[in-house]
Amino acid sequence: MIYFDHAATTALRKEAIEAMEGVFSLYGNPSSAHEAGMKAREALEDCRDTMATLLGCDYDEVIFTSCGTEADVTAIRSVLATGKNRILTTPFEHHAVLRACEELERDGVRTDFLPVHKGGYVSPADCDGLLDGRTGLVSVMRVNNELGTLQPVREIAVLARQAGALMHTDAVQAVGLIPLSFRELGVDFLSLSAHKFGGPKGVGALICKRGTVAYPLLVGGGQERQRRAGTESLLLVAGMTAALKVSVENGEREREIKTRLRDRLQNGLIALGAVPLCKDSERTPGHLSAMFPGKDAAALLHALDLRGICVSAGSACASGSGAPSHALTALGLTDEQALSCLRFSLGADNTEEETDELLAALREIL
Ligand code: PLP
Repeated sequence: MIYFDHAATTALRKEAIEAMEGVFSLYGNPSSAHEAGMKAREALEDCRDTMATLLGCDYDEVIFTSCGTEADVTAIRSVLATGKNRILTTPFEHHAVLRACEELERDGVRTDFLPVHKGGYVSPADCDGLLDGRTGLVSVMRVNNELGTLQPVREIAVLARQAGALMHTDAVQAVGLIPLSFRELGVDFLSLSAHKFGGPKGVGALICKRGTVAYPLLVGGGQERQRRAGTESLLLVAGMTAALKVSVENGEREREIKTRLRDRLQNGLIALGAVPLCKDSERTPGHLSAMFPGKDAAALLHALDLRGICVSAGSACASGSGAPSHALTALGLTDEQALSCLRFSLGADNTEEETDELLAALREIL
């Protein structure tokens, strides 16, 4: 099998597997006061410390969650603790953010959207008139999951602060993939998900600035300093921490490999008549979306799948729905154009041979 869908999910890194094997025997509940509990607690807090160092935040700012979605929804719902009733976000956020905003309409919270520019990014200049003292929360993703384009989170966070609003960034497609520091971004909330950088599925984190009130999605026990009820999974957290450590340590080398492969793939796609999206914008090296004018992306995806090659049409959650991707229509593509786009997302273990095989298969199918 040839896998070019790393933005949907990645294989477990061997270091993550080893870290999980290392804590299998620590079965105590981290909240228990006895020796078994304390051993688990110690291991959990070691992970929190390591995560904090890697992410440029303090250890007590790390809240372990069940996934990126939970982190996003918790951050968005935190607008309820601000006493304000407006959110400013973008129309090409992940559905975790968009649906959470929709749900809040029932609580009287209104959502405004920044326009998306043709290059696949939003602009701080457009905050004028949309961001003011009534805004409780601004949410802008660091990297768009379909286009790979980087968003000016740091600049918008400055404007949010000036307006007295909280700032959240969904960094699920950024953490472990591009250099990132919570403190330098200047945000109040940051979401991440382990399975995007070689960690296990079903675990993530919300980084919540000290002193900022997170509105817990799960209530019950007092875990995670009263900010997320439910017994922590040391197993998954250990896997996530190890994966993040290797991702950060190997980041530069892995980005170089991906850039080389991405450029090779992009040139090959252009030669086949495909149109890469947001080619000249600041992008991660791992994401490449391209339009195949007049073609049906779902059909291309299935034809590639039959040849053992995995890619995506729209994001993983949207594909299969038959609907055009909201991120692509937000970019200004027509439904027909959006339905002719494939996303290729690369991992550092992809090879030139695989890239050439993918291109050869596409040539044949087209
Ligand atoms: N945010 C973005 C940008 C994503 O790409 C994803 C997953 O595709 C999520 C949030 C959701 O993360 P999880 O799958 O851990 O719930």
